[in-house]
Amino acid sequence: PARTRFAPSPTGYLHLGSLRTALFNYLLAKRTGGQFLLRIEDTDQKRTVPDAEQRLFRDLRWAGLEWDEGPEVGGPYGPYKQSERSDLYREHAQKLLDTGHAYRCFCSAERLNQLAESRHKLGMATDYDRTCYDVPQAQSDERAAKGEKYVVRLKVDSLPAYTDLIYGTFKAPPNQGRKHEHAFEDPILLKSDGLPTYHLANVVDDHHMRITHVIRGLEWMPSTPKHVALYNAFSWTPPLFAHVGLLVDEQGNKLSKRNFDTDISAFRQMEVFPETLVNFAALLGWSHGRKSDVMDMKMLIEEFKPRFTKGNTTVTFGKLQFLQRKHAALRVERGGPELQKMVNNVVRLLQDPDGPYQEWQDMHFAHTLDTYVADVIRADGENYTNANEFLYRNSFLFMPIRNPRSMTDEEGAPLTMQRFEEVTDWNKNALAWTFNKSIVDEFDSGLGLVHKDYYAYLRKALTGAEEGMRIYDLMMLLGREETLARLGVDV
Ligand code: GLU
Repeated sequence: PARTRFAPSPTGYLHLGSLRTALFNYLLAKRTGGQFLLRIEDTDQKRTVPDAEQRLFRDLRWAGLEWDEGPEVGGPYGPYKQSERSDLYREHAQKLLDTGHAYRCFCSAERLNQLAESRHKLGMATDYDRTCYDVPQAQSDERAAKGEKYVVRLKVDSLPAYTDLIYGTFKAPPNQGRKHEHAFEDPILLKSDGLPTYHLANVVDDHHMRITHVIRGLEWMPSTPKHVALYNAFSWTPPLFAHVGLLVDEQGNKLSKRNFDTDISAFRQMEVFPETLVNFAALLGWSHGRKSDVMDMKMLIEEFKPRFTKGNTTVTFGKLQFLQRKHAALRVERGGPELQKMVNNVVRLLQDPDGPYQEWQDMHFAHTLDTYVADVIRADGENYTNANEFLYRNSFLFMPIRNPRSMTDEEGAPLTMQRFEEVTDWNKNALAWTFNKSIVDEFDSGLGLVHKDYYAYLRKALTGAEEGMRIYDLMMLLGREETLARLGVDV
């Protein structure tokens, strides 16, 4: 069983990309009967957004990604928030100091900046020059004891290669332009305020939380050799790593606010169903063996293997529309509260006094508005994306079309269509019978009309359009009164 984690920094909200990362970790854990953890990586307090944490919780739950261990639910390896684990990181930095894998660096920020600048000018690597590596131990202890400020650096002579589940053997590229023989990566583990950097906290936590698999964005891959170096320094076994490419738009630009990667509450506001968004996110850079792309969480879990495409993934939102319609149809099929939600959204929009749909008030309904809307959704659910588009699409069903002329004089249409008035038991059979009878009666009228012409007239009168759902379905949907009104019968 895999133990996986989603480890967001509360510096922003949940985006499509981070939802996908969380989802892949979730699916792997569930697929293998393991656990999915949530850990808040809030070591960078300056960048923390106040409501980010709460919104992350809410959005993950909305998407159905309940965590087995983490904030609010607890677990055996908590706390699950890095700002509450500072002692642990300090202890571990000390361990590395004791074993000689790390050293204190007393260099001031100014010195480091100057160093980087002058090296940069010379076209050299801007890494650290290890000045403080040579500070004798006794002296280092003394300076620290006196309260001099320092950071703790990991001593890294060469970065180890590691094997990525997706990218295979990965070795950090040799530092470009490294001409100075004493330029070293030597990443900072503990900052001068005693708080850990991302590297230290991330590794210490993944180890202590017994994480077996790390699935994360490709932007973290260059850090992974450092992490492996850190695991080695602790004599710990590193987890397995799988990196997933970035999401880009059709022009190859990284997804951003401008091209839709707003936080996922924007999708919720557009009434995208959680199962649609989860389905959509899962397909970004992951392929499966099923015939159909339409999958709910259960199917995704059954199907999941950490097999991702290399490189960036292009996001096309047409697919989101497609999946939304499919999931809408599934909701209609299942009925129940999910369908009711769709009904409520449509009804709310209809009743919105400032909304564009007011005319329905002049229509005749056989039952309540609610029932009518539910019937319409049942009839056309496979085309539902959201309430607004649905009403726009079906607007002819929500306005009192009163234009019987289209099937009378000017086009020479048969007035006997009004015979539908005689139908008291409004059902498809009765309607079909009446329809055929009226055609037979008209046969001698000399108009020379055939079946399909009658249909066309009828449709035009009922919908104002040339195409649409089947005519008897439509008449059933509209009900007797509204149908007759549209056919020019006074009701
Ligand atoms: N805190 C990092 C982030 O915000 C986690 C990266 C990782 O998964 O190791 O993406």
